[in-house]
Amino acid sequence: MSSTNTFDTIVIGAGISGLISACILAKQGQSVALVEKNAIPGGMLQSFTRNQQRFDSSVHYIGAMAPGQTLWTYFRYLDIHDRLSLQELAPTGFDVYQFPTFSFRVPRGVEAYRQALLQACPQDTDAIEAFIQRMQDVCRRIPLYNPHEQRQGARDYIQEESLGQYLAQLGASAELRGIVCAPTYLYNVHPSQCPLHLHFLVLHSFLQSAWRIEGGSQQLADLLATRFKELGGTLLLRHHVQSIDVEKRHATQVHFKEHPPCKATSILCALHPAAMMRLLPPKALRPSYKERILTRKNGLGAFSFFLKLPPTYDLDHNIYFFDDVDVTRGYSPRLHRTPEIERPSMFFLACDRGSLQGFTTMSYDTAVAWCGGQEYGRSPQYHRTKKQTEEQLKTHLQDLLTTWPIQDAPIWSATPLTYERYTATQQGTSYGYQHDMESLSNPVMPKTPIKNLFLTGQSVLLPGVVGATLSAVLTCCQMIGWSTLLEDITRDVW
Ligand SMILES: Cc1cc2nc3c(=O)[nH]c(=O)nc-3n(C[C@H](O)[C@H](O)[C@H](O)COP(=O)(O)OP(=O)(O)OC[C@H]3O[C@@H](n4cnc5c(N)ncnc54)[C@H](O)[C@@H]3O)c2cc1C
Repeated sequence: MSSTNTFDTIVIGAGISGLISACILAKQGQSVALVEKNAIPGGMLQSFTRNQQRFDSSVHYIGAMAPGQTLWTYFRYLDIHDRLSLQELAPTGFDVYQFPTFSFRVPRGVEAYRQALLQACPQDTDAIEAFIQRMQDVCRRIPLYNPHEQRQGARDYIQEESLGQYLAQLGASAELRGIVCAPTYLYNVHPSQCPLHLHFLVLHSFLQSAWRIEGGSQQLADLLATRFKELGGTLLLRHHVQSIDVEKRHATQVHFKEHPPCKATSILCALHPAAMMRLLPPKALRPSYKERILTRKNGLGAFSFFLKLPPTYDLDHNIYFFDDVDVTRGYSPRLHRTPEIERPSMFFLACDRGSLQGFTTMSYDTAVAWCGGQEYGRSPQYHRTKKQTEEQLKTHLQDLLTTWPIQDAPIWSATPLTYERYTATQQGTSYGYQHDMESLSNPVMPKTPIKNLFLTGQSVLLPGVVGATLSAVLTCCQMIGWSTLLEDITRDVW
């Protein structure tokens, strides 16, 4: 145990990965401080209110939360599983992929998905059977995705083949490719660059079960923050870390903008790795490691939009709109181009009791170009272009949802610059570093060359709520030992 400003571990960043890590370490008996620069915990789990309507900044749904499934297991270990209020999205079609000439409803369960694929693409029977079987095989081997199996650190699930290559090898039709590749927008990697296991895991986790967090994604952040405090943790909000001291290859203390420093035996950074790098003294790390972190490719960002409708408007499923069965067109989104703004090739939409929200892909460079050389927040051109884009999006949405009162609805939006400012996600990337084939040979690891400095979050391992949770568990395993933690989870949960 420690004195007021000294802890066993300081966790920097209270997004999902920081919250989960802090709870695990506190449950393991450590004295933990969780420090967050914003006034509320959650990072990308943040919900916000406009005109008395609640919106979710990023997270619209989560997967694998039915009893016995992956996320449920970790939430049960942390004792929050039955305090979280969830609404299951329609089991007969939690996601609807809307293509120009047909639509596809994604049902709950791998077998139901297989049947739906066979019905939609009868010409692809062999390809579908092979795809489903390989997905099951790979997902069964992912260690932390199957915590009860305790396959510590196994890496035999990693597939050195891209989703695009695999579908080409199966001879999949354009329709099957469109359907199977639609959820790549849950991690923003073009199928030709997407490691097969990443796609399998994300798709599989939502096929297990798909849930909306009732009352908004902030509920999950608040619940984890409450649990952390119950476990004896110290939550320090409005604590913006400015720097981390490193002496003799040992991280010793963190400095804040407006508060006294805190010391710790270990420091865990639950933020974008490049943001961590900027907190360290210039010579703390070898130039090769620094370069590896700072020059990595970030994934695309998002243009998110939020419309207030009457509360009777509600959807029990999400809708992905594509303007072509070739869903990869969304990776060269026309919204990227500037100055002209055209209809994006893909939209994601979710609607929860009058809160209609969604996103399309957007590059950081476009958002910067909207500023026209001025600083973000001070550029009238940025705000003008943003308003113009909102109005054009409303027109497009009205074409798609013809009977909904879209044109009259107040609208707000966020660009990669908004996300960057709020969570320090570099270049406003939605899902951290690009999780592509290139990254396989050069993964970001939880351990850094500084012995007591660790990393977690969506750039380490996997993105999304499930991915960032697995990342947090992985890092905690590295800090306190695989057997210690996984045996504890197995004993507590089963
Ligand atoms: C538009 C959009 C839609 C998405 N939809 C979904 C979805 O439906 N389902 C899903 O599962 N995932 C979704 N995701 C992905 C998901 O939101 C992320 O993968 C996940 O929330 C990332 O969590 P994290 O803990 O890694 O990072 P973050 O949430 O970014 O947390 C990092 C935290 O660190 C804090 N921080 C940064 N710098 C400092 C500092 N110097 N000092 C103190 N604190 C600091 C930040 O303020 C932040 O709170 C979506 C993402 C986006 C952008």
